[in-house]
Amino acid sequence: MASSACPECGRPARRVALRTVKAMLTGLALRRLRPHDDFRFCGSAECDVVYFSSEQTFRVTDVRERVFQKDPSGDAPVCYCFDWTQASLVAAAGRGIRPDEEIEGHVREGRCACDLRNPQGACCLGNVKAVLAQVREGSSDPRGPARREFGRI
Ligand SMILES: [Zn+2]
Repeated sequence: MASSACPECGRPARRVALRTVKAMLTGLALRRLRPHDDFRFCGSAECDVVYFSSEQTFRVTDVRERVFQKDPSGDAPVCYCFDWTQASLVAAAGRGIRPDEEIEGHVREGRCACDLRNPQGACCLGNVKAVLAQVREGSSDPRGPARREFGRI
């Protein structure tokens, strides 16, 4: 049983399905996977550990996908299923579009594949809503101080 705290940053981390870890690791990282343990996802921006168990850790460089919570560039995906980046969310919000409602519609229709496409292994909507809320609040830095809360659902 893995501890719930990231061994690197000490922050609490959510459990993540083994299929998510397998889908996200690079070939080189997958070659050293020990699959008989519970894995957790660290969503902390200040830490480059993505997955950990009681036996091993995998870092940003071990993951095929860019990890939104840990990528400060602004053009990393937020919604990995339907291709929304932070930049495209901000642009859409500026045009009065509600990407969160569009995504919710796709989720209702059963189109999402978060467990295989999103490194956090869970629905992106919390992160999408947090980005949009920060746009509405007029934060100069949309990633802002609340960013470290992303990935906790
Ligand atoms: Zn961490």
